[in-house]
Amino acid sequence: MQDTIVAISTALGVGAISIIRVSGSDSVNIVNKIFKGKDLNRVESHTINYGHIIKGSEIIDEVLVSVMLAPKTFTRENVVEINVHGGIATTNKVLELLLINGCRLAEPGEFTKRAFLNGRIDLIEAEGVMDLINAKTEKSRNLAINQVSGGVSKMITDLRQELVNTLANIEVNIDYPEYEDIEIITIDMIKKNIMDIRNKIKDIITKSENGKMIKEGIKTVIIGRPNVGKSSILNCLLEEDKAIVTDVAGTTRDIVEGMISIDGILLNIIDTAGIRETSDIVESIGVEKSLSLIEDADLILFVLNQNDELNLEDREILKKIKDKNSIIIINKIDLENKIDLDDVGKENIVYISALNNIGIDELKKSIKEMFNFEKIEQEDYTYLSSARSISLMKRALDSLNQVEDGINNNMPIDMIEIDLKDVWNLLGEVIGENYSEELIDQLFSQFCLGK
Ligand code: GDP
Repeated sequence: MQDTIVAISTALGVGAISIIRVSGSDSVNIVNKIFKGKDLNRVESHTINYGHIIKGSEIIDEVLVSVMLAPKTFTRENVVEINVHGGIATTNKVLELLLINGCRLAEPGEFTKRAFLNGRIDLIEAEGVMDLINAKTEKSRNLAINQVSGGVSKMITDLRQELVNTLANIEVNIDYPEYEDIEIITIDMIKKNIMDIRNKIKDIITKSENGKMIKEGIKTVIIGRPNVGKSSILNCLLEEDKAIVTDVAGTTRDIVEGMISIDGILLNIIDTAGIRETSDIVESIGVEKSLSLIEDADLILFVLNQNDELNLEDREILKKIKDKNSIIIINKIDLENKIDLDDVGKENIVYISALNNIGIDELKKSIKEMFNFEKIEQEDYTYLSSARSISLMKRALDSLNQVEDGINNNMPIDMIEIDLKDVWNLLGEVIGENYSEELIDQLFSQFCLGK
């Protein structure tokens, strides 16, 4: 039997009401001990009951008590919620009485953790609850509610079902190897199924990463040699939109030093200090640091001065950013052209003159097109939002790529089966079908108290 937990579920402070939530098999009994009104042990489930909280003969507060019996509750345990008059003293007093009478103070997120452990919600939905509480914009709220209401979980469960079907096909193949016809048909079919699943997972990863960027902003670096015009470009972007650059300790693990909003798309400019103070990211901090910034960024703005020939470092960086989300900005187009454009490549180039404010709209358009956020916003919000689940999906994708290679190289079918089971397990981890204690503790400890 789990112990009965209690927490104040509303924000502590002065307000009309506060809600104290109790969950566990003993919750009705315990509340009944300090409640004067109907006998709560005899009221029907899912009723709201008027009465008083008492300590001996002393009346502590006039309250409404909701009694919700298992299993149709958030935690799937007996849940009692007491609506007390808002205010710190009253709320704390009632909490104290419940603790004295046998409740234990809940840990942060423990109600949601119990909902998960008792099978009421899966991990994706639990993470959604947390996102919903923390949502600050309409877009992130949309993302979160889709997770909470099970849309995302269903997508993963469906994928797992497809895998099971494919595995069943493989079993047929292993069990009846003497029928050559079956083998030929099944290998083709299996391959098609696997490609299908792989494409779906790929699509989910792309959408999820974009979704994360909608929520947290696009990690952007502006690199280029000293005096190519990096700060001028930054200023143009800022001035055009009258956006504010603020010093915010990052919502991501990076230190984000500036945020720009381009028509609703949030750019988190990383390492603005490098631009502002020394004005020479590449030379002062070296190509190496530039390269490590590139590694981490969602978007790289590489600035070149049209009036200066390319040097070795420029060429090295051009090579590195080829397969990344990058835009090459050729600045100072008001001056003579000394760059051989054949060396730069043809894609994602924007010509501007930061000094004269020419081409800035083009630059913004390129950024918007690159991330295609308009398209995502019109589509559904069925994708993953946590780094945990996205990284599991990436591992699943790697495994599926291996499966495909295996098939192409005529690997024995039972080896392929092992890889597919691996993918099935990884998807299970996404929804929390298999999990470690440590992960669960860590995840739920991020919740606020009383949730
Ligand atoms: P950073 O070191 O890369 O941040 O470069 P800055 O933005 O500080 O610019 C270096 C110099 O180039 C400044 O004197 C700017 O006024 C000048 N500059 C920036 N953009 C342009 C441009 O489009 N044309 C011209 N002619 N000069 C520019």
